[in-house]
Amino acid sequence: MPRDDLAATLRSLDGQSYGRYRSLSGDWPLGSGATLTVVRVQADPFAPPSRIRVRLPDAAPTELTTTPDRRRALSGFLLRRLRRALRGTPVHVDAGGPEVLERSAGRVEADGTVTVELGVPMPGPKRRILGREAATLLGETLPAAVAQLRWEGFPDDDRRAAREFVTTVEDAVALRAALAERRLVAFVADGAVLPRRSGVDDHPLEGATPFASPESLRVTIPTPNAGDVTGLGVPEGVTLIVGGGYHGKSTVLRAIEAGVYDHQPGDGRERVVARDDAVKVRAEDGRSVVRTDVSAFVTHLPSGQRGETLPTDDFSTTNASGSTSQAASMVEAVEAGAGVLLVDEDTSATNIMIRDGRMQQLIATEPLVPFVERIRPLHAERGVSSVLVMGGSGDYLEVADTVIMMDSYACREVTGRAHEIAAQGRTRAVEHSGFPPVTRRVVDPSSLDPTGRQGKRRVTARGVDTLTFGEDDVDLSAVEQIVDRSQVTGIGRALALLGEGVLDGTIPLGEGLDLLDAELGRAGVDALLGGGRDATDLAVPRRHEVAAALNRLRTVKVRELLRGAP
Ligand code: ADP
Ligand code: MG
Repeated sequence: MPRDDLAATLRSLDGQSYGRYRSLSGDWPLGSGATLTVVRVQADPFAPPSRIRVRLPDAAPTELTTTPDRRRALSGFLLRRLRRALRGTPVHVDAGGPEVLERSAGRVEADGTVTVELGVPMPGPKRRILGREAATLLGETLPAAVAQLRWEGFPDDDRRAAREFVTTVEDAVALRAALAERRLVAFVADGAVLPRRSGVDDHPLEGATPFASPESLRVTIPTPNAGDVTGLGVPEGVTLIVGGGYHGKSTVLRAIEAGVYDHQPGDGRERVVARDDAVKVRAEDGRSVVRTDVSAFVTHLPSGQRGETLPTDDFSTTNASGSTSQAASMVEAVEAGAGVLLVDEDTSATNIMIRDGRMQQLIATEPLVPFVERIRPLHAERGVSSVLVMGGSGDYLEVADTVIMMDSYACREVTGRAHEIAAQGRTRAVEHSGFPPVTRRVVDPSSLDPTGRQGKRRVTARGVDTLTFGEDDVDLSAVEQIVDRSQVTGIGRALALLGEGVLDGTIPLGEGLDLLDAELGRAGVDALLGGGRDATDLAVPRRHEVAAALNRLRTVKVRELLRGAP
């Protein structure tokens, strides 16, 4: 068989042992100068997909290949187009999310050559080659989809979209490049849409309040394609983002974090950029730290053994605390060349951030040096700026060069007022008293349905961190008292039980959990097993972890709120 007809070759392999797919390795002509290369063949049908490379000479237009950024952007556009063309097939196209990254799946060269690499699961579930299916996939579907990447065949609309994609990326690169000379660390354009649709969906939130810069911090930066772009310039030094809870502070910081990357058109953050040495740091208790000099933030530590103290200028641990983990992350970021630290109170250890006057009196032996004392010298002496979200403590007001207030998603500069308040010293007034009764919720039992879209029951634990329940993947990673995968299975079964009758749509959740407890007390594991034919490993969970999972189920519905004391 001559090596020129991949489809015919595949058909001739029909029914042979799976390993014979190996014989395909190498180049296959696709016509018009294009080549398909079988780079790596999977050993069996369950292994990671085989790798197929397709090279198309002279496929990209000269106008969009003149610079490395244009080529990266164009390859990002082509990969997204290819992913769309191959939707519904088993072919994997690593086109990524909204960020436009340089990646191995797609490359555009200066001479117009386009190369894509795809993951193709070779068909043969019974370890026999399915020749016809493979011939259709590799001989027809894939070449037809890849041929659509040739610029000459692009409809006008697609040409426009490709140009927009490339110019959007090019403008973001220009905005980012303009930051340093303007002594800015980040830029958020007016009109940008910062919030995302949900915690697990990176699409822009519909109906969001577009970003608007405060006049006092407004800058205008020229771009090669969109002309002058106006927005908030976040200056070097110490910048504080303050504001009430749920007013959009973290959303601004997250957009700045993502601003080290370029974004595709339609993302909302196309013109939100940060210097590419901006690094988010956070608390991460339990992480390991190896020989890191954390003495800037930790002066001495108890060793726990024989009253020795650990050296903090050469600090190692297999299990860092929240504060030491954040201290380590901050100095490690500086070591790696960070010029901007991005810190959010939501993900920080309080005691590495602040130490108030009362605690200074009460705890004389505090080993931690709070960030509030290092944040200015970090900039003045080490040249590292900080952007810090802080709504909970005013201790940072005096150390901030710039204070930005988020108020119902609107942005204002309040540096002057903040410094005034800081100069007055510290006072704290009691603003609230009592603790109101906790409103009881009536959960809709039909929303606790473990049936997946295909009509099959899906209750599966993936480690201790994820419960698949119906169509929902419940993230349990922050429910820290879950210790065992079998508990997660038990939680899934308990949720199903709640939905199948324990909750009747009239009783509040707390009463439902009482009934669940009674049933678990009476029947133990059998309460969660569906009779004798159901054999699986599960462990009986507490009501609290069942409730925690229910509360994190994105599909759960609450029918009614019962206010006031029961
Ligand atoms: P904070 O950190 O101030 O407590 P977040 O940034 O977490 O607040 O935002 C709170 C909620 O408001 C989130 O659900 C977020 O998606 C939403 N949100 C943030 N910015 C906007 C906006 N500009 N328009 C609409 N919703 C927004
Ligand atoms: Mg927040």
